[in-house]
Amino acid sequence: MDDRSRGVNTEAAETVSASRALAVSGQGDMVWGHVAVRDGRGRGIWIKAPGWGLEETRGDRVQLVSFDGEVLVGSGAPHKECHIHLEFFRMYSDLQCVAHTHAQAAIAFAALNTPLLPISHDAAIFGGADVPRFDITGGLINTPELGVALAQVLGESPAVLMPKHGLVAAGRSVPAAVMHAVLLERSCALQLRAMAAGPIDVYSDAAEARIKREQCWPESQLVAGWNYLLRMADAATADAVIRRMHD
Ligand SMILES: [Zn+2]
Repeated sequence: MDDRSRGVNTEAAETVSASRALAVSGQGDMVWGHVAVRDGRGRGIWIKAPGWGLEETRGDRVQLVSFDGEVLVGSGAPHKECHIHLEFFRMYSDLQCVAHTHAQAAIAFAALNTPLLPISHDAAIFGGADVPRFDITGGLINTPELGVALAQVLGESPAVLMPKHGLVAAGRSVPAAVMHAVLLERSCALQLRAMAAGPIDVYSDAAEARIKREQCWPESQLVAGWNYLLRMADAATADAVIRRMHD
């Protein structure tokens, strides 16, 4: 029996899982940041409702938003930055999931305006290329026009840095999009740590980075990382319940 036959919408459930996975990876920013999953019937996107943290996302706290920005399922207005997801999905028909967070290391790293170097497995996801950056505005992506401009920066990259703001990551699967966000944030954090200690001398050249991308980050490994994050999210929930019982 699949989720749909049990009356639970698959994409809504995936949106919940993706939100909780990003939260447990440390990319929560109180009630800001969101993940969206493409609706399987072409009606639009499933996205967390405003006012909730990523870790608080549940099945009744997601919305189905049409490509015209109309809330078809759920209540209230959508996130002001839903245009990120709407325009990414509109521009790239193969994308299944898009994540936007205000990840702290990504913001700090973007402020340095220096190339992201493949000093680790994580950064090899970019195959030796720098992470593309969106530099039109550091403000909210609150119009379709800004959403289109941001989507154009993605190209073939797994993610985009948004200086003065955060990151956006995309994938042809939900695990890929979430892991792309995680790998970018971890890459930025590690390079910040190295740069704080001195100049960086050792990193993969483009050829090695491309090989490492194939070795380290096939879909199976992205799924393995995703499954780990879901287990950690479940454990965090269980811990919170136990703490409440003992309060
Ligand atoms: Zn934002």
